[in-house]
Amino acid sequence: EPRGASAEGVSLADGPFESTRPNVQSAPDARVSMEFEDIETVAVLGAGNMGHGIAEVAALAGFEVALRDINEEFVEGGVEHIEWSLDKLVEHDQLSREEADAAQERVTGLVDLETAVDDADVVVEAVPERMEIKKNVYRELEEYAAEEAIFTSNTSSLSITELSEVTDRPEQFCGMHFFNPPVRMELVEVIAGAHTLDHTL
Ligand code: NAD
Repeated sequence: EPRGASAEGVSLADGPFESTRPNVQSAPDARVSMEFEDIETVAVLGAGNMGHGIAEVAALAGFEVALRDINEEFVEGGVEHIEWSLDKLVEHDQLSREEADAAQERVTGLVDLETAVDDADVVVEAVPERMEIKKNVYRELEEYAAEEAIFTSNTSSLSITELSEVTDRPEQFCGMHFFNPPVRMELVEVIAGAHTLDHTL
């Protein structure tokens, strides 16, 4: 379980995947020292089917969320879908009105990438399932994200290692694959690439 693992400072040498990770460092450097408890802000890139649902789940978990898409219409669509879904949870007595409103307030819809990610501790990419689109998103993201931020991809089928290698932080990169709809599916696959540090997971 990531929270416990990071709190105990798991040694990389003890990891079961050591032999498949040629580039792991023996000790995490300063920028990978962030602990699970330090995570406050999540940026979700792509406000489509999965992005809006991931943003909703993150907001319900208490994180500040920036939801980014390429134009106002898509951003507003994502924010409205979250509102609709939270209303349904209230209707079905799975959430109080106050909890729903508080979660909604934690979500900020944005088009400007820099504003969306410059404060993010974790970035979840949920843009279309095309390698070149995702690589371009990570190249652009690397310009604006904080050094210590963790990058994740919701990809269903693309290589985490290949995606991670377009960034300057392949050790701080992993897959985080949600199922549709995230608010109903209590399962997330966390996927290591060849360079992912245990601390990142
Ligand atoms: P979608 O088409 O519904 O949403 C993708 C969104 O990304 C669109 O709103 C699009 O405008 C936006 N986008 C495109 N370029 C962007 C950019 N540069 N920055 C920000 N946003 C950008 O797709 P989806 O179904 O949400 O899938 C997203 C990812 O999640 C894919 O990798 C997919 O394989 C994966 N996934 C999908 C499902 C599913 O059931 N739909 C389940 C698990 C994983």
